Amino acid sequence: MRTLKVSASPIHGLGVFAARAIAQGEEILTVDDRRVVDARSPLRPELSEYDYYLDYLAKGKKVLLQNPERHLNHGCESNTCLRTRAGERRLVALRDIAAGEEFTLDYSLNRKLDKSLACRCGSQRCRGTIFLDYFKLPAELQKDRLPLLEAWFIEEHGLGGGTAAG
Ligand SMILES: [Zn+2]
Repeated sequence: MRTLKVSASPIHGLGVFAARAIAQGEEILTVDDRRVVDARSPLRPELSEYDYYLDYLAKGKKVLLQNPERHLNHGCESNTCLRTRAGERRLVALRDIAAGEEFTLDYSLNRKLDKSLACRCGSQRCRGTIFLDYFKLPAELQKDRLPLLEAWFIEEHGLGGGTAAG
């Protein structure tokens, strides 16, 4: 049985929806990170390669998100997160997700970009503005979301806590 489907979203444009019930911890999809965008291979708008489909990985690496993962919308109380396992990013369910529910990802995680977007995720604790910057989250939310960060982001930003002074 299919795991997901892409269709019109009440949040924004197209979204990715559960085609069946998903259990907490289940891997929903593997992200295709093969299209690296750099000086040698820039975005090609004539092929519908737009900067809003970019994602940002360790050491400044940029990739163009493919279908369906490029259609994942932001949720302030997201029901999924990304986890790198065996060198590939997997979209993992943070809780049980019912058939028909939209998968959402927190765009503030693993990012430190000078960009923001208006949010219409509709969750009770919607932050109104999506900062594509973990460090612009309120302090208590940063603490709460810390376990959801990718290991490379924790390392690059010294969030491991091993050498905290006082
Ligand atoms: Zn929101």
